[in-house]
Amino acid sequence: MFALFDLDDTLHDKTASLKVCADVIYTEFLFDLAVNRDEFTASFLSENCIIQPKAQVFDILAQGYSLDISLKTAMFHFFDTQFHTFSKRFDHVIETMDFLKSENVRLACVTNGRDFFQRNKIEALGLANYFDVIVTSGELGVKKPNPLIFNTALEQLGAQAKECIFIGDSLTADMLPAKQLGMKTVWVNRVNPIRSKPDYVDAKLESYSQFVDIWQQLA
Ligand SMILES: [Mg+2]
Repeated sequence: MFALFDLDDTLHDKTASLKVCADVIYTEFLFDLAVNRDEFTASFLSENCIIQPKAQVFDILAQGYSLDISLKTAMFHFFDTQFHTFSKRFDHVIETMDFLKSENVRLACVTNGRDFFQRNKIEALGLANYFDVIVTSGELGVKKPNPLIFNTALEQLGAQAKECIFIGDSLTADMLPAKQLGMKTVWVNRVNPIRSKPDYVDAKLESYSQFVDIWQQLA
């Protein structure tokens, strides 16, 4: 079997990492300005969770808080070069990776985002050595849900879709395209655990403490 993972909000606790990063950016760059810390953290989080280019995130923040271009540029540079250092894993992710390795499962990470940015996070999260294959939309030039990015991972793994389980948090970008290609699907859903799963999701995972049981049912 092969396991393919999304990164953000699947292995990487993006919200937790963004909160810490927002706090550091505030202290570094905005402390002396008439900007409210909580308000800044909230807009930093919401802009970074919208699917839009990161340059646009910082344009919007600069506009909203009347920051000049040099400050905006410095903040953006700090974010690009330092964000990975704030990266947090969800609980039991390392145990999950160790379990899969002990079962001789080959692993891929299939993630949307700029190549250096995603790879820095994978490294900082301590996950780089677990992945046999890493495919980023930044490198490939197409994003999930485009089947090309999934097929690239399959090709690099030397796997067929029916031998794969895809683990991800997005129904539209991860679960549906993976199922359409013939993979099994595990939906990481912490946000709203009572939400029922669509028929293209084979299993729902609220915590990685459930992973071994789910894997053994599906593999
Ligand atoms: Mg995700």
